[in-house]
Amino acid sequence: MVLRKSPEQIAHMRRAGRVVAEMHEECVRAARPGATTADLDRVARAVLERRGARSNFLGYHGFPGVACISPNEVVVHGIPGPRVLEEGDIVSIDCGAIVDGWHADAAVTVPVGRVDDRSQQLIDVTREALAAAIGQVRAGNRLGDVGAACEAVVRRAGFSVVREYVGHGIGTAMHEAPDVPNHGPAGRGLRLREGLVLAIEPMVSAGDARTRVLDDGWTVVTADGSRAAHFEHTVAVTADGPEILTLPA
Ligand code: MG
Ligand code: MG
Repeated sequence: MVLRKSPEQIAHMRRAGRVVAEMHEECVRAARPGATTADLDRVARAVLERRGARSNFLGYHGFPGVACISPNEVVVHGIPGPRVLEEGDIVSIDCGAIVDGWHADAAVTVPVGRVDDRSQQLIDVTREALAAAIGQVRAGNRLGDVGAACEAVVRRAGFSVVREYVGHGIGTAMHEAPDVPNHGPAGRGLRLREGLVLAIEPMVSAGDARTRVLDDGWTVVTADGSRAAHFEHTVAVTADGPEILTLPA
């Protein structure tokens, strides 16, 4: 069942979204050569504590961190740990927060120090794909329009959209209906209505889109070892078009 949110409920989600934006800002600053993925998780945890927010990642099906930290070939769900970030890596930071029972969820991929042109292009294209998808988040459009816009940007650049993982509705739970694929076809799928809130999250491989899960049961990597990027925002359908809820205050 797809639940629509009132403006008051969306206001709660905006507060959670601002906490997530702050977690990102601080994690991005900490994503330097020599930092471990566990260091970034600690930074995110400190923001949650400071803001009195709860984590929707910690303990989710047993996940041990407040953030998924996913370097290079890791697409999503990287477990924070001893892996050291090196100059030239890219790293995805995916985290969320709960404020007064309302959830927000967002992800960003950043370069660690200086990166090669192709890695930077992968980051830029994935960010653009998310922006194009968000541009379709309007009452009357369909979910397929969102995915198709995302996919078009990725294809034009010669990269590939990961299909085995998708975005989702979000509200009093992190994962609600509907699923939000990052591909089309346009004109198909659920019709968007005011009050719908979606976590839109393109995952893009620089090579082949197929993935596999490591033996830890969490870490999703590209099957061919290519680098992958991931961007996500929590977005509400409002009377005035899309509102990104996971932006800084
Ligand atoms: Mg996320
Ligand atoms: Mg998500």
